[in-house]
Amino acid sequence: MSGTTRPSGRRIWDRCEALARCSEEAGALTRVFLSKEQRAANELVLEWMREAGMSARQDAIGNVVGRYEGSAAGAPCLMLGSHLDTVRNAGKYDGMLGVVAAIDCVHVLHERGARLPFAIEVVGFADEEGVRFGATLLGSRAIAGTFDPKLLDSRDGAGTSMRDALTAFGLDPDNVAQAARRRSDVLAYAELHIEQGPVLEAEGLPIGVVTAINGATRLAVEIEGLAGHAGTVPMSLRRDALAAAAQCVLAIESRCAREPDLVGTVGRIEAAPGATNVIPGHARFTIDIRAPRDEQRRQAAADIQAAITAICARRNVKVAVHRTHEGRTAACAPWLQDQIGRAIEAEGFPARRLPSGAGHDGMAIVDLADIGMLFVRCEGGISHNPLEAITVEDAELSARVFLRFIEHFQPAA
Ligand SMILES: [Zn+2]
Repeated sequence: MSGTTRPSGRRIWDRCEALARCSEEAGALTRVFLSKEQRAANELVLEWMREAGMSARQDAIGNVVGRYEGSAAGAPCLMLGSHLDTVRNAGKYDGMLGVVAAIDCVHVLHERGARLPFAIEVVGFADEEGVRFGATLLGSRAIAGTFDPKLLDSRDGAGTSMRDALTAFGLDPDNVAQAARRRSDVLAYAELHIEQGPVLEAEGLPIGVVTAINGATRLAVEIEGLAGHAGTVPMSLRRDALAAAAQCVLAIESRCAREPDLVGTVGRIEAAPGATNVIPGHARFTIDIRAPRDEQRRQAAADIQAAITAICARRNVKVAVHRTHEGRTAACAPWLQDQIGRAIEAEGFPARRLPSGAGHDGMAIVDLADIGMLFVRCEGGISHNPLEAITVEDAELSARVFLRFIEHFQPAA
């Protein structure tokens, strides 16, 4: 076998196109957990895994798992992967790129006849986005052993329970726990993924090292003022709930702008009664705060709550703040960041480190093994959108870096 084979950007590209055709809508990409489109995607991926010299199977929750043995059979593995499900009207690379690039790396090792001191497993996770049942990271949680069996009773929009959907897919809902892996079997988890943001492109860099998958705090705020006549109540006597909310929105923006890597968003706001000639008596809005460090995020959330309380007291409106979600940060292991960084530098690029503002399977796998991630730039930072785009060159370069990382991988001491 030749020692000069390399990952192929063209093959990766073509496989992303092939996966994009496994969609429930013609002309758009939507592929949800336990659908017939997922079955078609799984079959393609299983075939590519086998072509790349792996033994390949579907596990108890519908993940596809390929295994390339190391120099000694049965050795613990370096786990690589990403997800094969999509959001509605998705792009072609979010998730899928990481699966097909990992397979391409193994393909090259197989062509070279190379065996490493450890096994490699490539996983195509069945659900990360959580579109069908609302709960996210189902595939990776099953592998990490943290899948909550109560979720089996959750229902999709058509009223089908997850239990019935698993059965219809040919799986046994009572066996999901069998997808769980042992810590001693997994040396580390590494994922290649598009950035889904604009930082790398803005800096003219094709790839970067992820420092952490940001934790998130979500708050719901309700403000109660007093509705009144828009013509008769003087400005000084108003208790305008929406004006108070507006001031809160700007306070959130300025608090979050003070620190790099901290982001805060008010994505939804409503005012009632909602008439042109009525002072809003009631307003409610959501806050989403993310940061690469839990302490940083908690401090920002506390400051924001204090600012909201002060603004509402000054304006003589009542306020209630509820926490609707608290997700901890999943830090990427420094030793894996270093090894990924060295692979990037060896290809002639700086190892730009950046946090991930979006969630990824590593958030679940971190309970099983140390995690690392490599980001690939995407055009305009656009994702969760059919306009999501990468280049063949970036696909090839990122796979080359990933292969270099794999070949030089040293388990933590
Ligand atoms: Zn993704």
